[in-house]
Amino acid sequence: MQTKGTGMERPIDPIAVNLRSFVKGAIGGLEEVVAHLIPALDRHESGQGRKLLVFCQPNQEDNVRQIASSAEIVSIQNTPEGIRSHLMETPHRLLFCPLMVLEPIDSSIPGAILIPDLQHEYFPQYFAPGVLRWRRANFWPSVVRARIVLTISEFTRTTIVEKYGISPDKIVVLDLDAARTFKLPCTPRAEAAFREFRLPAAYFFYPANFWPHKNHANLLRALQILRKTNPEVALVLTGSEVPDPAPVLRMAADLGIADAVRYLGHVDREILVPLYQHALGLSFVSQFEGCGLPILEAFNCGTPVIASRAASCPEIAGDAGLFVDSAQPGEIAAAMFQFVRDDALREELKRRGKLRAADRSWERTIAVALQALEAAANPPRLAAPTPQRARPAGCWCGATDSEPFSPEYVRCKSCLTLYLSSPPADEFTRVDEFDRGFYGVDYWLSHQKNVHDPPREERARTDLPERNVYWLSHLLRRVPLGKRVLEIGCAHGSFVALMRQAGYDAVGLEMSTTIAAFAQATFDVPVLVAPIDRYPELRGSFDAIVAMDVIEHFLDPIAELCRYLEFLSPEGALIIQTPCFRNPARSWEELKRVGDAFLAQSKPEHIFLLNEDSLRRLLNQIGFNEVAVLPALYSYDQFVVASRQKLIAIEPEEYEPKLMEIPKGRMALALLDGSTLCNIYRKAAEERLMALNAATVECTVLRKAADERLTALNAVTAAYHLVRKAIEERRAPHRQGRRENEEKPARPAADTVK
Ligand SMILES: [Zn+2]
Repeated sequence: MQTKGTGMERPIDPIAVNLRSFVKGAIGGLEEVVAHLIPALDRHESGQGRKLLVFCQPNQEDNVRQIASSAEIVSIQNTPEGIRSHLMETPHRLLFCPLMVLEPIDSSIPGAILIPDLQHEYFPQYFAPGVLRWRRANFWPSVVRARIVLTISEFTRTTIVEKYGISPDKIVVLDLDAARTFKLPCTPRAEAAFREFRLPAAYFFYPANFWPHKNHANLLRALQILRKTNPEVALVLTGSEVPDPAPVLRMAADLGIADAVRYLGHVDREILVPLYQHALGLSFVSQFEGCGLPILEAFNCGTPVIASRAASCPEIAGDAGLFVDSAQPGEIAAAMFQFVRDDALREELKRRGKLRAADRSWERTIAVALQALEAAANPPRLAAPTPQRARPAGCWCGATDSEPFSPEYVRCKSCLTLYLSSPPADEFTRVDEFDRGFYGVDYWLSHQKNVHDPPREERARTDLPERNVYWLSHLLRRVPLGKRVLEIGCAHGSFVALMRQAGYDAVGLEMSTTIAAFAQATFDVPVLVAPIDRYPELRGSFDAIVAMDVIEHFLDPIAELCRYLEFLSPEGALIIQTPCFRNPARSWEELKRVGDAFLAQSKPEHIFLLNEDSLRRLLNQIGFNEVAVLPALYSYDQFVVASRQKLIAIEPEEYEPKLMEIPKGRMALALLDGSTLCNIYRKAAEERLMALNAATVECTVLRKAADERLTALNAVTAAYHLVRKAIEERRAPHRQGRRENEEKPARPAADTVK
């Protein structure tokens, strides 16, 4: 770099660690990991003249200072908000969250997490509802978002890949080691404490908190069996009071072996040493372990190990364990019996255990962890793309003559397709092994949120009764049931699921490994991870390829479609939905004036917006001369089925009985029927609305007529009153005269009276 040595280069930002859920003595086996990694990270940073930043709860500050003496420690109360704002103020090169989840999840700096196991995915019944919900809500996004995931066994690494579909390259296994105490001789204090316990001479030892997966129940059943031949053998248990040990002890009483079971409560590590050393063996019958540290502790103490065949136990115990099926008390009892009778076996297992213990070291583990964290802080750049062939400049059709259309698009003068005036570079469509790239996991986690598309969980529900059923109704008319269908760009997998439900042998293809895994986990459907060329064995094996809202994203639609067509049988059908620029002579301004729904199809990832004619031309160019236009679900889309040979049409009378042959098919048919009913009701509702509108119009006309008549009537009335008034006015002088005439004759009468 030019700036090197000038003293102008930017200093390297320190690493931040989130220990917000750290509580000394209450986080189980992870505490051992934290106690080794954090001091090492603290030394690593201070050795480079930086200060490690550690977030913790206020009441844990002193405990954290003990393991990170040079670090800057920031107390954070109950929410991750403080962490977010702190990280926004001061730059850091990595946020390391060793306590399982990435928090805050949406931090802009690279993240690293440590996940010991995915027990909740295998034994959800062992978790309180709140904890299960929390794990399900946080583990997957954390694993996806983190640049690197540290874990503690190959077993857990495999389960993370299987359950969450991320690349195994992103997961680093740290080989844990037993604490130093177990490598040192037993102290006099511990020996004295041990004598105080006054334990029977022959006992098996099981240090484990009373969680259900620790499987105390079957160990007690095994002991009951063993006691029939060896009544002198006992079982010694240690572990904290939470969860409550009482049910296990009650069970021992119910089995009649209460006197053979000794529970010592929580015991200091130092005192565990003689408990291991004097035991006949460790009876490690757990059903699920991310690592199973007691196995390593036993190896260090020279204690032979009976281990469960479950989870990581075989990996950790290797050739130094006597393995049992933890679900079979008889098998556990048989192994215990072997330990009681066969000293040579115990000695051999002790010897092998010592060798395995010597093979592990915290120094090496720390070095691996630091290297992984540094790699996460400075990820390799995306490899330069290697274009297969030069992408044609201009339109997909080869023409380069175009006219301006909108701020983003030009219109091809030859085929009237709209295309981005400055299309993205080829690497735009690349997704790397960390699931990075435009169509990597961020397309689903962030981009869709930014463009206000509903999240994939919601779409995985709402697409099913809507577009998926619609697509299926057309697929059934074009592709016989039972055929193999590949859906490219299957996203959350709901359509693959529906096709399989109906009876197609459907498979999805997705670019993001994470979303592929989401689809697999959500709908239990097979989803391949692009590029399709990874699966040469599938060439020519599909009877139909479905591409819904896909080809508008292709940088070179001809080349990219041809790649997929190698996987289609010669008579196979291609079913496409893509936006339709329905009246290609219209201008952008006209569309805006009428608020056309097509406007929303202008997106930076929509490279080509075809019209009906240009889609047909495109299909013809790749040899699909039979093209049937199907009614599109939305006004701004087009929906076609095409074939290189003759297109077929299948009537409902043909496919409906087939759907009814299998239970799942009946469910698919029910969805189709529901959709048909829905359409009938919608149509009826629309008709009624139209009738209502017509009635409203008629009513308005009638009212107007009535109003006019009323006006006329009022006019007549007014005229009547005028006339009447005029008549009255004319009559008035006559009356006056008459009154005068009537009064005159009275006077002579009065005179007469006079
Ligand atoms: Zn063109």
